[in-house]
Amino acid sequence: RIRLDGVSKRFGTTPVVQDVNLDIADGEFLVLLGPSGCGKSTLLRMIAGLESLSTGRILLDDVDVTATPPRHRDVAMVFQSYALYPHLTVAKNIGFPLRTRGRSRQQIREKVTDVATALGLIEHLDRRPGALSGGQRQRVALARAMVREPGAFLMDEPLSNLDAALRSATRTELTSLHRRLATTFLYVTHDQVEAMTMASRIALLNGGRVEQVGTPSELYDAPRSTFVAAFLGSPP
Ligand code: ATP
Ligand code: MG
Repeated sequence: RIRLDGVSKRFGTTPVVQDVNLDIADGEFLVLLGPSGCGKSTLLRMIAGLESLSTGRILLDDVDVTATPPRHRDVAMVFQSYALYPHLTVAKNIGFPLRTRGRSRQQIREKVTDVATALGLIEHLDRRPGALSGGQRQRVALARAMVREPGAFLMDEPLSNLDAALRSATRTELTSLHRRLATTFLYVTHDQVEAMTMASRIALLNGGRVEQVGTPSELYDAPRSTFVAAFLGSPP
């Protein structure tokens, strides 16, 4: 369970996230949706602990983690750029979070095999990221997040580097992975089609503020502002 309590962020004097209050239940697929520059990545990075807050609090399972470093938060981030280590094999990339947490070689090998099997990466374990397709890299990044068995996955536009066909296939894959893992997905995108097809709830951001939160059909059928209607293409 993730709770954002009056979360704001300023860079210098520029406010980029403004008084965000949001309650995310266990197992939700919540999409943070909004136009470029509205503060989506900043908000996600604050939940991951990669960015400090100007004001407000972040609670994970009712524990205030506002000052907790990233590795001690029970969440795992999947970056838009995948952020894989180019000099390490796929197996070492996936196992990296376990190695830094001091797990044994045996434990790491078993966990990496499990996750790689689940994501169809077994035959690529000895390759390096540079020798993989965009879709395969995206799966490695996801696998690296999965080995930690986090309470929530934070994903920042994970499909934006994929072509249209692969993007649509990966959307379906992510939806079924979410169902299988029964874990919270917090997913950032500016793509309303992604949001409408995958989200159990959408939080639509505009200029650092939450415009509306609800199920895809609530936002589409009952937009609370002209911004929401225009962004989702609701009929007038
Ligand atoms: P996109 O869809 O393009 O990824 P976004 O919604 O993720 O956009 P953010 O990356 O959160 O937007 O940025 C929100 C605003 O904060 C932008 O105007 C951006 O220029 C500004 N910003 C982000 N990081 C910094 C920083 N480190 N220093 C100053 N300004 C920043
Ligand atoms: Mg962003």
